[in-house]
Amino acid sequence: MAKITKETAENHIKELLEYIGEDPNREGLKGTPDRIIRMWKEIFRGYDPSQKPKITTFDNGKDGTACDNMVIDQGDFHSNCEHHCVWFWGKYWFAYIPNPKGKIIGISKIGRVVDYCSARLQIQERLVHDIVDMLKEALGSEYPPLGIALVMKGHHSCKEFRGAKKKGIMTSSYLEGAFKDDPQVRAEFMNLVNGDKYEG
Ligand SMILES: [Zn+2]
Repeated sequence: MAKITKETAENHIKELLEYIGEDPNREGLKGTPDRIIRMWKEIFRGYDPSQKPKITTFDNGKDGTACDNMVIDQGDFHSNCEHHCVWFWGKYWFAYIPNPKGKIIGISKIGRVVDYCSARLQIQERLVHDIVDMLKEALGSEYPPLGIALVMKGHHSCKEFRGAKKKGIMTSSYLEGAFKDDPQVRAEFMNLVNGDKYEG
């Protein structure tokens, strides 16, 4: 993992504070490098494989009825852009069609995978892939889901509060299987996503 000590990292933060014209030794800033480093450990825990969520899956149909209809989960996310190291955040919509012979995912695990993959320097385009890849891996390749989809809509600080200074939402998506190939399935999912108004 990290080759530098926490102390060295804190000193670098002090230098950055000096660089912007601050006095890193004044009362209000004394503890700031320590706080930033501890916060980074938390918001960038996605680099630590030991914090990777355990994804519970269940054999589809074991209890009698196999599910082969669309299952949808929705929630929020917070991440940091790798170009500016500032927040981007928003909402996600995940859907999949379980394989009747395959597995179903414990629904609360989807949010945990979203959080873990978000806890790295990211771009929203790659984030959708990272999340879907981890969930696909958990569902297994023997009887893969009949379709899998993820849409994320996010506000980006680096676009809204600096530079272009334009408030607005960026959308990224990953569609596979029935969500890509079957216009009806795709429309059903996208109608749901777009009907769920998200202005932030
Ligand atoms: Zn950025």
